[in-house]
Amino acid sequence: MLNAIVRCALLLGLAAPVAASDCTARDFLGLTLPDSPGRPAIAIALETAYPGLYVDEGQGNVHMPDGSTVLPLGGVTGRDPAQRLDSPTIAEQFFYTYPLAFDLGPRQVPWTDPGRLRNPAFFEALYYSTQAEAAADMRRVTYAPTGTRFVLGDRTCAATQLDAALRDIAGQGIDYSRFFRNVGGSFNWRRIAGTDRLSAHSFGIALDLNADLGGYWRWSGAAPGAAQRYDNQIPEGIVAALERYGFVWGGKWHHFDGMHFEYRPELILHARLSGDRA
Ligand SMILES: [Zn+2]
Repeated sequence: MLNAIVRCALLLGLAAPVAASDCTARDFLGLTLPDSPGRPAIAIALETAYPGLYVDEGQGNVHMPDGSTVLPLGGVTGRDPAQRLDSPTIAEQFFYTYPLAFDLGPRQVPWTDPGRLRNPAFFEALYYSTQAEAAADMRRVTYAPTGTRFVLGDRTCAATQLDAALRDIAGQGIDYSRFFRNVGGSFNWRRIAGTDRLSAHSFGIALDLNADLGGYWRWSGAAPGAAQRYDNQIPEGIVAALERYGFVWGGKWHHFDGMHFEYRPELILHARLSGDRA
């Protein structure tokens, strides 16, 4: 029903970008998944994650929440993993299912990086195409026990979701302060090291905890596709709270980035729809 309304609004050109004032924290592990028999999990995940977005699987298109941008959903190509990582289709963003369990086994399979595949056109349409536009939309979110500040945006409610996750973490009664000292940062308009692709930090949807405790595959000296060994120090309580509010963790990636969390609720929802209910 809601989907039909969104579709009508899009057809009539009535859809508007979601404003910051519309943000209310959502629990992506607990919310009821739409009952949409016959629709692909990718479509349900994207539409639930990003209100105003509509997937027309018949035409193979994604109508973005801005109400005007239409992008090809694309398929899963037979390219090698490095090429797929460099320029994934929107469908290929779901190529690796994000493991909801606190299990670092799946990441040992080379190139299993659920969340590291990002279609540039999708992210620019969802977020920003210039640094100035992004910077104007950012706000501070604070982890109260240490006063640590992060800067994220609310274009898709990432800042609101982070605030809810940090309150959850603070409420666990565990001293996590060392993970929130010397944090690696949050909003930062930049390219990913070693690539031409914009980092998720450019869009105000990512944060890095204490870099000394995170672990990063490039610093480990591993070659691409051969980063099996990762000695994790990030506690499950932090990871689980952030996942609940829509953030995936780079510690579950083959090319591990243990300090990095990124707002990708579609991947959490897709994992649930795919039957991985931790
Ligand atoms: Zn990061």
